[in-house]
Amino acid sequence: MDILHTQLNNIQRRLAFVAVDPINWKLYVQSFSWAVTLFESYLLIRQYPLFLKKEPPAVLAKHFEQGVFEKSQNYGRDKARFAFFSGLFKQSLDSLMLHYGFYAWSWTAAGKLLAKVGFGPEYEILQSIAFVFILFLLSSIPTLPLQVYSTFVLEEKHGFNKTTPWIFVTDLFKGWAIAFALGAPFLAAFLYIFKWAGDRFVPWLMAFMISFQLIMVVLYPTVIQPLFNKLSPLAEGELRSRIEALASKLKFPLKHLYEIDGSKRSSHSNAYFFGLPWSKHIVIFDTLIQQSKAEEVEAVLAHELGHWYYLHPTKMMAISQFHIFTILALFPAFLHAPPLLRSFDFPKEVAAQPPTIVAFLLFQMILTPLEAVVSIAMNAVSRHFEWEADRFAVELQDKLDDEKMADMGDRLGKALIALHVKNLSTVWVDWLYSAYHHSHPTLTERLRGLESFQAKRQKKAQ
Ligand SMILES: [Zn+2]
Repeated sequence: MDILHTQLNNIQRRLAFVAVDPINWKLYVQSFSWAVTLFESYLLIRQYPLFLKKEPPAVLAKHFEQGVFEKSQNYGRDKARFAFFSGLFKQSLDSLMLHYGFYAWSWTAAGKLLAKVGFGPEYEILQSIAFVFILFLLSSIPTLPLQVYSTFVLEEKHGFNKTTPWIFVTDLFKGWAIAFALGAPFLAAFLYIFKWAGDRFVPWLMAFMISFQLIMVVLYPTVIQPLFNKLSPLAEGELRSRIEALASKLKFPLKHLYEIDGSKRSSHSNAYFFGLPWSKHIVIFDTLIQQSKAEEVEAVLAHELGHWYYLHPTKMMAISQFHIFTILALFPAFLHAPPLLRSFDFPKEVAAQPPTIVAFLLFQMILTPLEAVVSIAMNAVSRHFEWEADRFAVELQDKLDDEKMADMGDRLGKALIALHVKNLSTVWVDWLYSAYHHSHPTLTERLRGLESFQAKRQKKAQ
């Protein structure tokens, strides 16, 4: 522990200038957030011409009827245009909020609100909660029209929207209620740990965040998801017995097997698993079950179980813990830094004793460019995991010594193509756009990958 604290102190000493130098942080955040948005717009400009191509790539030609390919190109174009304008719109909004001192205004407004009900500025945690919710509400309202447009115009036009205005509104309020019910106690505990642990908060906060994530693993599927979707046990039949057999051969601790009514909101479809190490749940979208044969859905599950076999979720969690640790290790330098708050228009008396939540929020904004780089790296890791899971499905026949699984790669390929065709997913992808945005390899890449994994294992067998 002491080594940890010495190292953390060293970092803090190097960043000591933050607490004294009057740096124009606001200009810095404005420039970098615009740079990220403009880069994302540039990626869309690179990607856009690919939506004008008239033919699918050669490997896919036989799977796409001409009409379907045109539909997917039209859908891609509409989505790209929407992403282009909504990206610029959101950035302009953020930029205006920064320029006019919206964060400082919200802090004062939260203070006034609490004063009315008899709580003074000594109740920093209460004021912090009020502050975050004022920020959250006021900044989400202007982007509501974008959500409405995306759901009821864009997705509707291409036949994906199943949401009714009633579901849309109730989802919105349910979302806000959950954000408040979970967010307020989370924030209170988070801020309390800072007060209690003082400058030795890093290990305590890490422990708290990990416990919170583990609690969510249990709470999300049992309490939160049922508020939005209906999960029902998968019916007895070919699919169920195939998946149960596969899970038991792999010693996957399958507790429950659900079908989810994903089609209530959208016809995009998939499958996933979750749960604690000794008790896992598998969830399959009703749309996937309807559009693919049982043996193909089984192959999708074989891929998913590959993620489990190689501990991908655990590895991802370890990476994200390291990420959180780095952020927290840098934070103390920004925690007691009046010039930082002054640069974002906070009044002198607030800046003199920076509230933790304000310092943390401003610190997060300063990290924007770093976070963009982190997200590119995370996507690269995630794509690597997808390769591993695909290879796992192809090699299942050797692992389980089961000849019936010899065509697992073909079946997975068929299911992926069916998913792609139904979702009208993008077929032609710019490499830079893909490296930045995609957590999965493209369909063309995956089909080629499946073929080469199969070829490699046959070579090995000879
Ligand atoms: Zn996957």
